[in-house]
Amino acid sequence: MRIELDESRCSGLGLCEAEAPELFEVKDDGSLAVLDATPSAEHRQACEAAVASCPTEALLLVEG
Ligand code: SF4
Repeated sequence: MRIELDESRCSGLGLCEAEAPELFEVKDDGSLAVLDATPSAEHRQACEAAVASCPTEALLLVEG
């Protein structure tokens, strides 16, 4: 699975980071860093929660 971030939609609120701090980090400038864009299966639950938490639908989980 792969995480895709649409930076034009991201407002930097950090709800994804709250769900999965091992995968996402809001930087000092308000931009979002995806720390691991191809997380292993053990992160699936946190990853799905993070994607679902995003209010602007900036995150997409791509299978494969
Ligand atoms: S929850 Fe969505 S809008 Fe907020 S920082 Fe994460 S990707 Fe960006």
